[in-house]
Amino acid sequence: MSSNGNPSAQVKLPIYLDNHATTPLDPRVLEAMLPFLTSKFGNAASNSHAFGWEAAAAVETARRQIATAIGASPQEIVFTSGATESDNLAIIGVADAYRERGDHIITAVTEHKAILDSCRHLEKRGCRITYLHVSQDGLIDLDELKAAFSGRTILVSIMAANNETGVIQPIEEIGSLCRERGVLFHSDAVQALGKLPLDVRHANLDLASLTAHKLYGPKGCGALYVRNDPAVRLEPMIHGGGHEHGMRSGTLNVPGIVGFGKACEIAQKDMPEESCRTAGLRNRLRDRLLAALDQVVINGSMEHRLPGNLNMSFLNVEGETLLTGLHDVALSSGSACSSGKTHASHVLKGLGLSDEAAGSAIRFGIGRFNAEAEIDYVAERVIDLVKNLREVSV
Ligand code: PLP
Repeated sequence: MSSNGNPSAQVKLPIYLDNHATTPLDPRVLEAMLPFLTSKFGNAASNSHAFGWEAAAAVETARRQIATAIGASPQEIVFTSGATESDNLAIIGVADAYRERGDHIITAVTEHKAILDSCRHLEKRGCRITYLHVSQDGLIDLDELKAAFSGRTILVSIMAANNETGVIQPIEEIGSLCRERGVLFHSDAVQALGKLPLDVRHANLDLASLTAHKLYGPKGCGALYVRNDPAVRLEPMIHGGGHEHGMRSGTLNVPGIVGFGKACEIAQKDMPEESCRTAGLRNRLRDRLLAALDQVVINGSMEHRLPGNLNMSFLNVEGETLLTGLHDVALSSGSACSSGKTHASHVLKGLGLSDEAAGSAIRFGIGRFNAEAEIDYVAERVIDLVKNLREVSV
């Protein structure tokens, strides 16, 4: 516990408010995983003894739990090492399997790098990619999508919810447009899983990327939903023992998969109450910041947004400086560092923000284990710091 006055007296520091980057493991998930890290260590592919049967049965239970969470059937779940792999497999696997039918893919400028970089890779191999724009609220324009389809289009990939702004895309409408045209529809549903109701049949989804560590499960374990009726063809990227119907070879990560299944089961059960609670905390934080500070902009639609997300630009303040000052709070800024250089976020730039506005953005990611006192502490710290930094810079 921190010893200095209110409200920090009630909170344990540091505070974790970066739940879009990853989430802490839920103790119930850990409990489910532990036997598979100790006594139940069998290889799920060992079909000649009880150790293997026990592991295989646990994997099938998890497959069912994950499928249930998205309205799929268990055979449609392919386990991977995480959503980066799932995104690569969906994009490159479809491009390779449907080469004779077409070579055009449609995606959006605000997608995760796992999608954008897979598309860039395909461009180098001669595919044509359309990158849809988004409006200021972060949403794609369905008319622009309709106009982008061509006779060579094989796939549309649009994420369900954005990892920086929390903006939720109209995946059901997108799914209908794709289905009408016989084009496959993939969605990176990483940030939506466990936070929003997701039904692959209802959304006409053919493929969806998922990962355990964004919903209080373990890192290094993901899945790709691959529709089986009508069946989607995929060229595998990893070759070997023919696991996962030949779509992804490699010994299954049994403890991770068991944890992923449990995390989905918990999220599905708790979602209505939890979404309400995290949205309440998010609104509390937003209202406090807006009441105390001027020159603050909310980035992306407030209406179509994940319950625990708030992305705000504090104009005339460097986001990185703000983060350094907020050393007892874990947050992300609107800049990313690569090769020693700081770049404004491609997502915020996609919404039309200037480099300065994007550079002054902070992403607050509120999750299952955050308490009201933490929100109040963070609000006060941000307000004090923004005021101080602005005074200094005058
Ligand atoms: N897609 C989105 C939207 C994400 O937020 C992330 C996580 O950063 C990923 C994909 C990559 O997931 P993983 O860490 O499982 O590779």
